[in-house]
Amino acid sequence: MTAPATHSATPRLIRTTQDLQAWSDGCRRDGRTIAMVPTMGALHAGHLSLVKAAAEKADAVVVSIFVNPTQFGPGEDFDAYPRTEAADVEKLTGHGVEVVFAPNAAEMYPDGFATTVTVGGPSAGLETDFRPHFFAGVATVVTKLLLAARPHYAVFGEKDYQQLLVVKRLARDLNIGTEIVGRPTVREADDLALSSRNAYLDAAARRAASRLPAVLRHVVIALEAGAPVEAALADGRAALEREGFAVDYLSLCDAETLSAPRPNAPRRLLVAARIGTTRLIDNMGVAAA
Ligand code: AMP
Repeated sequence: MTAPATHSATPRLIRTTQDLQAWSDGCRRDGRTIAMVPTMGALHAGHLSLVKAAAEKADAVVVSIFVNPTQFGPGEDFDAYPRTEAADVEKLTGHGVEVVFAPNAAEMYPDGFATTVTVGGPSAGLETDFRPHFFAGVATVVTKLLLAARPHYAVFGEKDYQQLLVVKRLARDLNIGTEIVGRPTVREADDLALSSRNAYLDAAARRAASRLPAVLRHVVIALEAGAPVEAALADGRAALEREGFAVDYLSLCDAETLSAPRPNAPRRLLVAARIGTTRLIDNMGVAAA
């Protein structure tokens, strides 16, 4: 029987799916619930907010750290993505994390790996228009992580809002048996959403980046005051371009399906925009019209 972690304990590092499954089986035999927090590492306060939610939900918390190659396209930042495993494990110490699962790519995708999970529904549009490979990579790795850890709960950030809906859909459609829990975006003092990719921003780009949430909030206020949608979005896009952003999309969607907004239903404003070489995404809720 594995002893439950105390809040001061250093997490146990697990590298193989087989060992993770054995740990999960042990928890379940002992009647302990499991919550998982999948990450790509370079942990910040946003990730830690998910860990806190996980620890509140379940008896045992597992955080995965894996920079998943299949969700990066050619020419994207897979090689440059920050890898800070020792510091990450240190950050997780004292937060009630029992296990860190940090496999290598060969463990997740051994020779001959030939399966891809593709999700329809909320995958359509937005990120998929600009990163067509992305959600198949995410869905495949998340499916593997959930089947290996068999958690009762898995906690994801609203920061990646489309991803959260895609993961909810795949867990439901494939009867994974894990409840997907979404948590609000954690922001810097100037409102910029925390992201591991913010490390790429130089001082000037970092200053400009804080305009992204400011413009979003402005558009949310206009929409909630009844401004015509197309005009509010065009104003927002123009404001971002004036701040030096190249806008991939600024879209208003139904908050549950990401299809066209429906009358009397909550909406979500989603943006992806590039400042210099860094691509930022963010989103905010918009009350029903
Ligand atoms: P990543 O390591 O960037 O793949 O993110 C791992 C998880 O952390 C995902 O569920 C993200 O949505 C979530 N996350 C990333 N940034 C934030 C943030 N600023 N606030 C809350 N959750 C976040």
